[in-house]
Amino acid sequence: MMPARGRPAPPADAVVAAAGSGVRYAAAGEAPAPKQFLPLAGRPLLVHAAEAMLAAPGVRRVAVVLPGNGFPAWRARVEPFLRGGGGRVRFCAGGATRQESVRRGLEALGVGGVEAGGGAAESEPAELVAVHDGARPAAAADLVAEVFRAAARHGAAAPVVRPTDTLFRMAPANGPEGRRLAEVIPREDAAAAQTPQCFRRRVLDEALDAAARSGFAGTDEASLARFAGYPVAAVAGDSRNLKVTTPADLEELRRRVGPAPPGGAPPRLGFGFDAHRFGETGTLILGGVLFPETPALLGHSDGDALLHALTDAVLGAVGAPDIGAVFPSTDERWRGAASGRFVARAVEIAAAAGYAPGQADLTLIGERPRLGPKRDEVRASVARRLGIPASSVGLKATTTDGMGWTGRGEGLAAQALVRLDAAAPGDAPPGGESRSA
Ligand code: MG
Repeated sequence: MMPARGRPAPPADAVVAAAGSGVRYAAAGEAPAPKQFLPLAGRPLLVHAAEAMLAAPGVRRVAVVLPGNGFPAWRARVEPFLRGGGGRVRFCAGGATRQESVRRGLEALGVGGVEAGGGAAESEPAELVAVHDGARPAAAADLVAEVFRAAARHGAAAPVVRPTDTLFRMAPANGPEGRRLAEVIPREDAAAAQTPQCFRRRVLDEALDAAARSGFAGTDEASLARFAGYPVAAVAGDSRNLKVTTPADLEELRRRVGPAPPGGAPPRLGFGFDAHRFGETGTLILGGVLFPETPALLGHSDGDALLHALTDAVLGAVGAPDIGAVFPSTDERWRGAASGRFVARAVEIAAAAGYAPGQADLTLIGERPRLGPKRDEVRASVARRLGIPASSVGLKATTTDGMGWTGRGEGLAAQALVRLDAAAPGDAPPGGESRSA
């Protein structure tokens, strides 16, 4: 609402806040990956958000802040989509709160680092910094540019939409009938803030510091700036600039944006098999989950046959050498190693080839352990390592009806089939060095 057209865009950095954790949901077994990883037109939501920042006038670097829990897999999942960013994209692990995650994103943009593309970092922060929600994939270029212009002029700016519904304050919950409406909030006094929000770097740094000092928790950065006493200019937002919060939001966006463009590389399949002998001591670990009633499998690493089969499946799908070649058992680094490291490395190798996991189907073969009580926990653990929803991980167990070495309980075998999907290189926005300094 305060346009300032006609000025050249000052240099800016951007942080994409996409660190929301899926752990709470993954534990439920069936629930999806964090929503910012759900696909829209063939690309994760947060990739759309990052692309909007890369395409914004004056933007030099974009920090993409991903969940800290399972960071290597999340990074590998989205990195192939952002190669077209001209080496301007950095990834970092988020913290426990949005404020901590945004701070880490700012640090990742900071001095002395190395760009994702291998170039040297700028020595000074940009004059402006924008923060954009990873789950807000449809910010129009005009809106983004207007927010940046307003921030350059006023120090801080946010896009807002004016409510059209009648707004009430809610009374405290009182009894089984639930909450009641209290007084009306005058609609003309209310606005809903979207992202991207943009700030002079000093304003955002000081707003984050002030909030940290006094324990203030805001749901966006404009609220931190207001808490710290800075004016925030309101720019006309757009109701189509949705933050995906419910499945209906995503359905609406998919209707609007349409399916993935045809002509991408087809998916690739990989198959893995592994078997280990049971020992007498220790605790079995399968899929990164402990089975306390069953002794450990013997092995150079932690003996997690399920993750070994999975690792080989991922490596096989991109034609990479197998787990024994990538992580030789003669290497002391892998003695007793947690096998999640093997999966993470395999996912990185696949990402370097332009592929990310899309689905896995796993089978355990043996007389023990009893999988049932731990099935969803193992699925969620595997899903987190691959960066896919738990609903995309199949897991079965079978015996061999008393026959052979598995039937005699001497050991346990695992099979894994994975599908890797091609990232769409060239789908990224025009990159290039668009610095206007
Ligand atoms: Mg093995």
